[in-house]
Amino acid sequence: MIGGERIGRSEDRIRLVSPTFARQRLDTILGETRPFTEDGHFLYPADANGSHASGFFAFEQIARVPAFVGAIADDIAAWIRLGRIEFDVLFAPAQPPVRPLTEAVAERVDRPTAYWEYLPSGRFGDRLVEGSVSKGAKALVFNGVSLQGRCVGLRLPEFVERLGGTTVAAAVFAKGVAATVRETEVRMGSRFYATVQVDVPVYPPSECPACRAGAAPPVSWRTFAERVP
Ligand SMILES: [Zn+2]
Repeated sequence: MIGGERIGRSEDRIRLVSPTFARQRLDTILGETRPFTEDGHFLYPADANGSHASGFFAFEQIARVPAFVGAIADDIAAWIRLGRIEFDVLFAPAQPPVRPLTEAVAERVDRPTAYWEYLPSGRFGDRLVEGSVSKGAKALVFNGVSLQGRCVGLRLPEFVERLGGTTVAAAVFAKGVAATVRETEVRMGSRFYATVQVDVPVYPPSECPACRAGAAPPVSWRTFAERVP
């Protein structure tokens, strides 16, 4: 079971898990930006091999508000300082809404950023597109949302290793409830930060309950993430 406090209404599937983040501030962020839906049938990543999700949590709407990005960055910087996490580079996907948060954290802890290629479908590319990771560098891998845990738990650390560095910690604004999230929690312990944990189940297409119930085919996750507020 997931720890942390419950938040009212449909947000009872969003739990505050960072002990240093103010609950009231989180309520404001969620209330004003509505990053979560528990309805719908989404394809993620949005390509032929994508998984299906019966709801979604997206960082896009939060990333539009500098004060909210700043509040989250403050909390991540506090976790870095309190945990004495020593690292050389903040390593994140070059996903447009993730960049302002990555930059805000980097500025607060005075570390450089490096960005890995990100495709519009939601998948990673195969090259570094900005910044650098030097041989032996310690990386903090970073993302806005990790529903499946694969980005900060597996893929980003693989890319860091390919570039000659090592991953020493991971941080996201929102983590999901999938097995790889739990494995990353176990492996990294207090070196895996999340502000909130969101209960958004993601299924292989063959196991999707909506498809089994005869629902219309899933739509791209971007129709929710990039909706006009
Ligand atoms: Zn489905």
